Amino acid sequence: MELSSRITGLLGGGSDGWGVFSRARQMIADGTPVTELTIGEHDIRTASPILQEMHRAAMGGHTGYASVPGTPALRDRVAARVQNRTGVPTTRDNVVITPGGQAALFAAHAATTNPGDTALFIDPYYATYPGTIRGVSAIPKAIPAHASDAFQPRAGEVAAAAPGARSLLINSPNNPTGVVYSRATLEGIADVCKDQNLWLISDEVYDTQVWNGTHLSPRALPDMVERTLVVGSMSKSHAMTGSRCGWIVGPRDAIEHLTNLATHTTYGVPGFIQDAAEFALNQGPSFEAEIAAPFQRRRLLAQEIIGAQNAVSLVPADGAMYLMLDIRSTGMSGEEFAYALLDAHHIAVMPGESFGSAAAGHIRVAMTIKDAAFAAALKTLCRFAEQKSQ
Ligand code: PMP
Repeated sequence: MELSSRITGLLGGGSDGWGVFSRARQMIADGTPVTELTIGEHDIRTASPILQEMHRAAMGGHTGYASVPGTPALRDRVAARVQNRTGVPTTRDNVVITPGGQAALFAAHAATTNPGDTALFIDPYYATYPGTIRGVSAIPKAIPAHASDAFQPRAGEVAAAAPGARSLLINSPNNPTGVVYSRATLEGIADVCKDQNLWLISDEVYDTQVWNGTHLSPRALPDMVERTLVVGSMSKSHAMTGSRCGWIVGPRDAIEHLTNLATHTTYGVPGFIQDAAEFALNQGPSFEAEIAAPFQRRRLLAQEIIGAQNAVSLVPADGAMYLMLDIRSTGMSGEEFAYALLDAHHIAVMPGESFGSAAAGHIRVAMTIKDAAFAAALKTLCRFAEQKSQ
């Protein structure tokens, strides 16, 4: 039987970008130890008190259908956190809880684009973006950010791509580059959204991982609140990737329609997960800082190691749990380099090309293993690049 082009065309016909990752996993399955610096998963598990709360809530009976837009208490908690962090008045009516940020990205595009509409996003990008857009029968259109601009997008290039588009998806702090968009970048983007009547979908799942300065949510910029949907998640900020709990913050009428969408797709998020998320958020910013600290520490370690050689350079960045390394001095593509490093040293990294053509000649390193092992792997990687660039 024939399946829909929406689903068979989801990957756009290209590689899914996970080839190196799959080879690494196969090597591990075959008994070869591999140092994995691939996916954005913490090296710690969800904290015990959060799990205890999850257990308490489940044992207390919160195991039936939960309120579809989210429990009032969790929506209030998310709204308060957003208001505290951004100064933008926000209530539970501006919040819908979703099963993770990924479901929120899908719902945000379903809410803002009609079939066949163009949805813009910035390249390099988190690997699911184009497929998410295709999944709602919209047309993904990438706008390159440039290595020479430290991957800050240019408003002029966004404006040039915008005519006829319905939405623009941005992500700061950024996966894969670690770049935090400057106020000037975000103001330029906001102006284009207003001039060209675009929805802005702002993926802020790394909002607690900023090492210099502070995270700026574009929803807080003048006249943006009515055209911005913010995607958030417990995954990265609270080491709760497996709990599948995220949200969209946006205008009240958009949230009403997104609640209808949730009723007809996910039917909400389990109540005991939401109670655990509320408990986790109640631990406040110091807990979030604790979860983020290893990545900041490892970035400093990486700066030292990379500063001591010339073959690899670090994209200047201030956030997230990744390093983007420029390996163009080796003459290899990111993909060639990643496969060769895996074969020679059993270290797995993601090729930049997995995240779009703008990141060609780069690799993404997830800072998600213990400090000593991370430093050792990075030194090996640099020596390998030195050999290749001679
Ligand atoms: N956005 C970005 C930029 C991500 O890196 C990820 C996960 N790696 C997500 C969204 C989705 O995260 P989750 O569904 O776990 O909230």
